[in-house]
Amino acid sequence: MERNDALWRTAQKLIKNHTLTGDEYELLLGGQDDPEITALLREEALRLRRKYYGDKIYIRGLIEFTNYCRNNCLYCGIRRDNRQVTRYRLAEEEILACCENGYELGYRTFVLQGGEDSYYNDDRMEGIVAAIHEKYPDCAITLSLGERSRESYERLFLAGAARYLLRHETADEDHYRMLHPEEMSLSRRKKCLEDLKDIGYQIGAGMMVGSPGQTDRHLAADLCYLQELSPHMVGIGPFITHHETPFAHEPSGSVDQTLYLLSIIRIMLPRVLLPATTALGTMDPMGREKGFLAGANVVMPNLSPVKNRKDYELYDNKIRTGDESAQCRDCLELRVRRAGCHLVTDRGDYCGFEM
Ligand code: SAH
Repeated sequence: MERNDALWRTAQKLIKNHTLTGDEYELLLGGQDDPEITALLREEALRLRRKYYGDKIYIRGLIEFTNYCRNNCLYCGIRRDNRQVTRYRLAEEEILACCENGYELGYRTFVLQGGEDSYYNDDRMEGIVAAIHEKYPDCAITLSLGERSRESYERLFLAGAARYLLRHETADEDHYRMLHPEEMSLSRRKKCLEDLKDIGYQIGAGMMVGSPGQTDRHLAADLCYLQELSPHMVGIGPFITHHETPFAHEPSGSVDQTLYLLSIIRIMLPRVLLPATTALGTMDPMGREKGFLAGANVVMPNLSPVKNRKDYELYDNKIRTGDESAQCRDCLELRVRRAGCHLVTDRGDYCGFEM
């Protein structure tokens, strides 16, 4: 009874102040199974989303342009040591064809995502970004290419990229070590995010929910980090097992915990752009609708060439041919409407962002 009181007070405090201490976040994370607390946070999350974005859901066309990766993240299906993947790279013309297709379908944001592939050096990447920017000046270009030098980020920004997604994955040093090989570091990851923000990108950070070894203490650290960084976008989704990784026998994360975190993040950063991720839709056929009803306001359907989609398998059973495909706008519209919202086709910049 006493614990419930403390939970209730902490939830109210988050709603009032939009911020909590690490200990308070950890306490609040214990409330995930309390229906009153989850309802309270969800309603406030929806109220805030409506206040800043109405009932609009923004769509971004995701182009997964390479699955080569020099990194060996223990959770990821396209890690360097996975010899079972057929590796592919899209040529500039193929990427532009995806954009053309997307533009016709109404997409005004293109997200170029890939493994850390040195083939796409600064010259090549700059050429690709400039070509898209020139052809589609009314569209936003988002990059998600992992860690690069500050100079590289600067060049790509000048070439026309406006946003960058780089999840921090976990804000706890020890946990970071569990998920990544020796040669990677949390401090470098954070430095990249700071550089990106400083250069002028709208940035997105985030973490997987339920990754191996993750505790509420780690998630509380993630929330504190997000609060401090105050990114324009936050990408979170459940960790999902991939059979060809060292985590092949680890359980996947939970949909409910992800939804609970979506609501907390919406309250913490009311104007944040928050996707209902593909991972959420993979774990639960209604996952993305539930995400919108927990405070999410972005969805990123797949615009990659259909022939390559099966090879960008970050985790097992990643959905790729149904409603999440960018081509099926009607299916998507229906899903969004079921959650009481509607799809919009403008760039969908961060609320208050000046171009
Ligand atoms: N190379 C880029 C893009 C990585 S893929 C980068 O480093 O940013 C995009 C995201 O997919 C990752 O940031 C990670 O959070 C997520 N991801 C990778 N493997 C996953 C898995 N097994 N389950 C759920 N999400 C995963």
